[in-house]
Amino acid sequence: MNKEQWQALKTRDPSWDTAFFCGLKRSKTVCKVSCARRVRQVRDVVIFSTVALALEAGYRPCPFCRPDKPQWQGPKAELVRAAKEYMEIHSAEKFSLEIMASALFINGSYLLRTFKAATGHTLLWYHNYVRCEKARELLTHNELSIAAVGDQTGFLSPAHFSRVFKKTLGVTPSEYRAACLKAMDS
Ligand SMILES: [Zn+2]
Repeated sequence: MNKEQWQALKTRDPSWDTAFFCGLKRSKTVCKVSCARRVRQVRDVVIFSTVALALEAGYRPCPFCRPDKPQWQGPKAELVRAAKEYMEIHSAEKFSLEIMASALFINGSYLLRTFKAATGHTLLWYHNYVRCEKARELLTHNELSIAAVGDQTGFLSPAHFSRVFKKTLGVTPSEYRAACLKAMDS
């Protein structure tokens, strides 16, 4: 979570409602940014870029703000939401603009432009980001080797996994796992 996101959560600013969602670790619920019903503390908050990722991580939608029942935000926001959902489901597959655009019944270059304008990121960046988030979850446990985590989340090779993970999250997979293990020890 960055400063801007925390500021949005503190002020419960509704203009951020489609940008990200607020998970609360202790109650394992996920809220819209604007939800006024629950106390938020920095250490209890975890950010999710979509509700689907929160649900996948075992969070329940807050019964007051219902983040899982999004309001209609217009065709562009709806397209961005559908694109994110598509990439979350298909993150382990090779990224293909052509296949994705035809699955969403939309022109590829329009999809590219709309997504970039709404999120500030390219589709490929988001596709890799979802893979990295899924890998990060697997890396916190010690059951799979780092190579197996990369393989399972769709990376082509350990080198590709390491490069993209570092570029996206700022640390390599092995550095990340070492930090997790250290945190568990202390
Ligand atoms: Zn809520």
